[in-house]
Parts: sequence; structure tokens; C-alpha cells
Amino acid sequence: MQSRQERTHKKSDGAPGSRSRSRVRKGCVPVARPHITKFDRTLERIRRFRDARNWMQFHSPKNLACSVVIEAAELLEHFQWKTNKESSEHAKKRRREISAEIADVAIYLIELADNLGIDFMDAIDQKLNDNEQKYPVARAKNTAAKYTELK
Ligand SMILES: [Mg+2]
Repeated sequence: MQSRQERTHKKSDGAPGSRSRSRVRKGCVPVARPHITKFDRTLERIRRFRDARNWMQFHSPKNLACSVVIEAAELLEHFQWKTNKESSEHAKKRRREISAEIADVAIYLIELADNLGIDFMDAIDQKLNDNEQKYPVARAKNTAAKYTELK
């Protein structure tokens, strides 16, 4: 059975020739969205990797959320004790290892969302919509203040 995420993405996966008519509005230039098909392939690969090892039994929401934070800490460890400038230099030098930690975080996060029936890309879109409301450019530009502190 297809997950909600698969069904959602199948409708408009952006693959050449698969563009639905509803996506092409009058006066709009169709935009290729290759990230959607790549995301679908990645999600399927995450599921296959887990299921081939029968690891779903260990992947409770609690364990996956813990794993996200543990992997995020491994990412953070790269920058511990470094100044901002040193952290930028380190990121260039250790790109491969940092990339692997970013992937570890993302894999657990994507699987957690999938297991909970949350469409990962929709969740990001929704959050960006919320953030655009909370941080209007006119008030948030050039400040790192929290939205509750914006003037
Ligand atoms: Mg790791």
C-alpha cells in the first residue's frame, strides 16, 4: 500500500512527461521539480534499508527522535570550541564527514516523519509559511531577534 507521502508525490512528481495538466496554469511557466522524485527515491531507499534488516521493530518514534538528536550532536561536535571563523574553515576542510552527519540527521528525520504519516516536504512548506508570517521581512531584516521581540 502506498503511503500518504507516495500518493501525494506521485500526483506531481515532476518527472519529464508526467506533469499533470492541473499543474500548468495559463500564463505560468511550468517549473521542473526534480527534488520531488529524488526525495521519493531517497525515502524508498530508507524504507528498503530498514526493512531488509527488519529494524522497524526498533524504530519507535521515541527511538528515532533520540537518534535525530544524537546525530545532531555528532554534527555539532565538529564545531565545538571553534570560533565562527574557525567553524567555517573546518566545514570546508571536513566537508565529507560533515556531509555524513547531515545525512544521518536527515535519514532519521525523514523516517520519523514517514512513520508518523507526516509529509516531510509539506511539513517544511507549512513551517516556512508560518515563519514568513512570524518574521516579515520589513521587521526581521538584519536582526536575529525572536519573533516575539520584533519591533
Ligand atoms: Mg553520525
